This record gives sequence, C-alpha cells and structure tokens, in this order.
Amino acid sequence: MHLKYLTGYPEQLQEQAQQWIASGRLNALLQRRYDEYHEVGDDRALYAYALQLKNRYLRKAPPLSLVVFDSRINQVQHALGLNSSISRPHGSRLKSRNEIRIASLFKKAPAAFLRMIVVHELAHLKEKEHDRAFYLLCRHMEPDYFQLEFDLRLYLTLLEMKTGQDASDD
Ligand SMILES: [Zn+2]
Repeated sequence: MHLKYLTGYPEQLQEQAQQWIASGRLNALLQRRYDEYHEVGDDRALYAYALQLKNRYLRKAPPLSLVVFDSRINQVQHALGLNSSISRPHGSRLKSRNEIRIASLFKKAPAAFLRMIVVHELAHLKEKEHDRAFYLLCRHMEPDYFQLEFDLRLYLTLLEMKTGQDASDD
C-alpha cells in the first residue's frame, strides 16, 4: 500500500507506519497519544483560538481579518507540501487580507492537530514560503511541531482508510 501522506519521510519511518497499519494498531496508537479533543466548534471559537495564539507569539504580525473553517479548501495538501508545484497555495488576494481558512476536518480532530494547523497558518503571516525561517517560527509556537505533523499524516492516512476518500478533499 502506498502511503501518500508519508512520502518524503525516511524509508524506515514509512515501513514502521506500514506495520502499524497492517497490524491494526495505528488507530489505538493515535488514540492513546491524542486523547484530548478541543471545543473549537465554530468560526467564532476558531477566531478566538487563533487570536490567542497570535497574541502570545506573533503580536507584531499583521492583524487577522478573518479566521474560519472552510469545507472547500484543500489546505491539508498545501500544509503538508503535497502540491508544492502551486506557487501561491493560499491565493494572493486572500493572503493580503490575512485570512486564515482551516479545513473543516479539524473541527473533529484531536486538539493537538488543530493547534498544529493553526500554528502553520499563523506562521504564514510572517513567512510566506515553507523554508527554514518558516519552520523555526512554527516550532517557536509549538515545540512539537514536527512530531505533530508526522502524526497528523498518520491520522489522515487512517481517516482515508476509514472513509475510503481523500481526507484532504473533505
Ligand atoms: Zn503553508
């Protein structure tokens, strides 16, 4: 089985993931590690959540004009670098107004994954590219950023196996 969310990781990690899937342990493993859910259930709560993080870590970045859940966007693909051929993934017009759109699958995701994706989008207020400066900023806001991103990929792999659809299409 091809694990599209994990391409780019060392082969050893991919094989480990294959084993977790084959043995049916991945679900339990993720549930044990991420047993905390959030209560950010609507756009209003999401805005407050993002603003709180921004005020703590990025006070000087441009103000947020809008933060919403969006069921249409393919943000996961972007955030995880799966469509790096597109050079303006967020849309330049939206970007200039500092809107943050979070894929609605995160409404029901574990708290840590929502945090990871909001941190990712907040970091883009200052750094446009997925470069070293960008990831330093992500880790400044969330020291476990890389682990969370890897585990989010496992989570999405599992979601797709459950629903039989592309999780990122939501
Ligand atoms: Zn990004």
